[in-house]
This record gives sequence, structure tokens and C-alpha cells, in this order.
Amino acid sequence: MSQNFELIIFYKYTPVSDVERFVVWQKKHCAELGLLGRILIAKEGINGTVEGLVENIREYERRMHTFDGKPGTFGDFSDVWFKGSPSNGGAFEKLKVKARTEIVATGLSDEEELDPNQITGTHIEAEELKQWIERGEEFEIIDMRNDYEHAVGHFSGSRDSGMKNFRDLPNIASLHEDIKEKKVLTVCTYGVRCEKASGYLKQKGFKNVYQLHGGIGTYMKKYPGQDFLGSLYVFDDRMTEQFTDHYQKIGTCVVCAATSERFGNCAWSDCHKQLIICEACAPNKTTIYCGKDCELSHMKGVAK
Ligand SMILES: [Zn+2]
Ligand SMILES: [Zn+2]
Repeated sequence: MSQNFELIIFYKYTPVSDVERFVVWQKKHCAELGLLGRILIAKEGINGTVEGLVENIREYERRMHTFDGKPGTFGDFSDVWFKGSPSNGGAFEKLKVKARTEIVATGLSDEEELDPNQITGTHIEAEELKQWIERGEEFEIIDMRNDYEHAVGHFSGSRDSGMKNFRDLPNIASLHEDIKEKKVLTVCTYGVRCEKASGYLKQKGFKNVYQLHGGIGTYMKKYPGQDFLGSLYVFDDRMTEQFTDHYQKIGTCVVCAATSERFGNCAWSDCHKQLIICEACAPNKTTIYCGKDCELSHMKGVAK
């Protein structure tokens, strides 16, 4: 039986009028359409990844786009950009729809908390970035994803932001002080993290901040195998996404340094950070840690 599945990724920062009822709406309509995945809803907006049969995905998008901000529609979702990839129907085991305080947890304090509708980097499209690269424009790319995502694939010459987790965002401005006056482009998987991350850099005094609209995934679909090394890490059971067979793997096993794109977890149960652990080293994976701290914590059996 061959059926066509699609996986869509979407977000929008926009005021949501009734978070709890919108959660109920999402659960009901996703269940009705047989969609599985993860949706987070907060007063500041929505962030989701869902997978289902192509025709049901189209119907979900249609229903979402009818919400135009008028009373009873939860907010204005009429222009949400659904970024789709063909898939095999196995990316998720369940549907999870949750109410949160933020649609991506940032770790920003109440004073630092920002609204991307007020302060954010200038959006550029994939085509514009391609032009920047081709005409040798002077700029720096800060990759706003986590270190393990950067490790398995990234734009050639991009900087690792220095985040193990996006909650480290409040700590990264000082790591990139040297390019505060330069033209800076932030990138992430499909764009949602850059909305606040680029705003945060501006808040910290970075002069010339841009963000890649639609993220790395959109760029890779448009220009497969170009300017990006390795694979795109994704937050579902696929682990990584490729857009061409002709690419060079850059991920390396944390144990033996062999080339690999296989992910495992830090053995310390309170950490469970993603690590690249190759097939050969995997049988020992219960004893592989992301660092000395985790190893010691596990030995002592105490929480960090
Ligand atoms: Zn290995
Ligand atoms: Zn760890």
C-alpha cells in the first residue's frame, strides 16, 4: 500500500486569544484528520510539526488559514507559512498539543523577554542569501541551533552559537562580541528560533542583524547540496533530513571520531543530550557521556 504522506513545519508569533480552547481545537481537528506530531501554543503564538496524508495536511492548512483574527478565531493565522516535506508517515508516534508560556523556550528573563513583532532581525529569503554568497558579500552567519545540530550539518563557514540548548540564549551575546559591528545573519532549522534569537542580538547592541526566513530547510530545498555541509538535524523520528544524495557527511562520533550521522543520548538520565555515536560504538552507548560532569553525576547518582 503506497500512500502519500507529508510533514509540515510552521510557526507564527501572533497574539492567541484563548490558548486552552485553541489546544482543544487543535487536538480535535488533528485527530479528525489523522495527523500526528507536536504543537505548542502560547499567548505569543503557535509552533508545530505535524505529519499526515497529503490531502489531510492540505485540509488542515485550509482550516488554519480561515482564522483571520476575528472574534472566535483564536488569532490571525491566515498567512501562516506551512513548510512541507514529503515523508513516509512514520515521523511521529503520537499527537501532542500543549499549552506553554513560550512557543520555543528561550531562558530569557522577564526583563529580557522580547516580542519578535516589536524587535527582530530583518528577514531575508533563501534567494537573497544565495545572492549574498555568490557576490561575496561580507557577513557572518551565527547558527542559532544547538551544538549537536551544528555538528551534523551547517552552512559552510558558519559559527556555532555556543548553545547546548536554546535556553542558553541569554549567554551567547558575549561569545560573538567580535562581530557586533558587522553584518550578521542568524539561521536555524525552519526559522522559528531566529525570530527571538535575532531580536536578542539587536537588544544586545548588534548593529546589523538579519535572519534567514524559512530557515536552513527552505534554503536546502531550493539549493540542494550547495553551501551547506552535512545533513539537517530535525526534531522527529527521522533525526536528519537530506535534500540530495550528493552530500558530504561531516558528523563525527564523539567516541572514536569516525564519520557518522547516528544519534544516541548521553547516558546520564538527567541529561540525555543528543550525541553523535557511530554504529560501532553504539553497543557501549549506556556508558557514553556528553562530558565529565555527566559522567561524575551518573557515578554519584545525584541530580545536577
Ligand atoms: Zn564511534
Ligand atoms: Zn550529559
